[in-house]
Amino acid sequence: MNPHQHGEVFVTEDGAETDLDLGHYERFVDQNLGKLSNMTTGVVYRSVIERERRGDYLGHTVQVIPHITDEIKDRIRANAHENDADIAIIEIGGTIGDIESLPFTEAIRQMKIDEGTENVMYVHVTLVPFVGPKNEMKTKPTQHSVRELRNIGITPDILICRTKAPLSDEMKAKIALFCDISIDGILEGLDAQHIYHLPVRFEEQGFAKKVLKRLGLPDETPDLSRWQHIARTIESPKHTVKVAICGKYLEHAAQPDTYISVVESIEHGALDNEAAAEIVWIDAEDREGIARELSECDALLIPGGFGERGVEGKIEAIRWARENDLPFLGLCLGLQTAVIEFARNVACLEGAHSTEFDAQTPHPVIAILKEQRAVEKKGGTMRLGTQPCSIAPNTLAHRLYGQSLILERHRHRYEVNPRYHRQLTSAGLKLSGLSPDGRLAEIIELENHPYFIASQFHPEFKSRPTRAHPLFSGLLAAAIKRQQERATQGPQTIDELRRSIA
Ligand code: GLN
Repeated sequence: MNPHQHGEVFVTEDGAETDLDLGHYERFVDQNLGKLSNMTTGVVYRSVIERERRGDYLGHTVQVIPHITDEIKDRIRANAHENDADIAIIEIGGTIGDIESLPFTEAIRQMKIDEGTENVMYVHVTLVPFVGPKNEMKTKPTQHSVRELRNIGITPDILICRTKAPLSDEMKAKIALFCDISIDGILEGLDAQHIYHLPVRFEEQGFAKKVLKRLGLPDETPDLSRWQHIARTIESPKHTVKVAICGKYLEHAAQPDTYISVVESIEHGALDNEAAAEIVWIDAEDREGIARELSECDALLIPGGFGERGVEGKIEAIRWARENDLPFLGLCLGLQTAVIEFARNVACLEGAHSTEFDAQTPHPVIAILKEQRAVEKKGGTMRLGTQPCSIAPNTLAHRLYGQSLILERHRHRYEVNPRYHRQLTSAGLKLSGLSPDGRLAEIIELENHPYFIASQFHPEFKSRPTRAHPLFSGLLAAAIKRQQERATQGPQTIDELRRSIA
């Protein structure tokens, strides 16, 4: 999966590197998913080929139907059983008729035979576009895709019609008639200001009731009060703060989903503080503009990343945040660059760097450790998935988490070099989170700064709209505080001064 085409790589508890859609499921359903929840054609074919080699098919000719489709169904069932699930939600991505998805659609068609029609339900998402100068609503694409689906033996129970404008009853009746679906099954998927409005929107149309009725399950009204609260906060936040993300701008421009979990986690932190966050993208390669742009923001976040481009700009941004009391959160590479900045400018380790970017650096404060090399020899490439971290008492990290042992998800090769721990800590860097054996720095922070904290792990993979991650909640609380303090202090930046005079 190439992140430039696909957006972010989402990491699960069990260390699977998956499509970002799984991140949305975790956030909406508020449940941890794992390796089995992400099925790719490659994984399915590999296991069928391996089974064929082992002789599991007793010399039969191996075919897409039944062998590939059986494998897909087995994986769906295995995942449901392993998680003791009442309902399995299966999403088949793409557009109906895609060559890639045919074995998957065939498998879910068979599912209704295997499990009984009463236990299987199909929800189809279609597009209802507006065309021409009169903005005419067109139902044809919906009709076509439903027909395409019928051709392969699936009749949808519910259609979710993606649309820019409300669907009138007349339109719904037309779609129902042409698609031969009861009008009760036509739901409007109106573009929302925010995707977090959707649970309430669908509930208003009785989605849950329809699903429960169709599957013969007891009708229980879902408690959506937290989602209602979220929707209200999005509509009328008490504060609006600016959070800068300093990264490779081109990456973001080419694929806005590259940092989707980070962006959503910032929003969770904002929601938790009854606020809204405006994200300001700062190009780490435009070094001239960094200080000026940061002076207009209320917090800085440096996300994870690979490759040298923009690293010096990120280091400069962190220096500015450290020296100017700007709330700062660093994630993975964000921690590594914060350590480099501190090593160079506070601990006086001239030329300090990560060996990822400078193999010859006189002070390799970030490096690949021997234990990681051993993992790489075994075919793994990164430190991936959940790892424990012990948090030291009387630290910002401890105040935020309120716990001494946490589990967080990782995806990186490099670490803070333990050889430098002592030099860094004696210069004032706090290693507030460590691997339980004390060897790996997992969280760093600074005292005498309103909020300066970074993690080697990726907290953004565990943040949920209904349960903001403490590192993000803390960042946003600090951003609001800074904004309020600045408001009482009057203009500080040149731009603010100009505006106040105008
Ligand atoms: N490139 C760094 C490493 O491999 C950081 C990775 C990341 O930010 N996910 O350690």
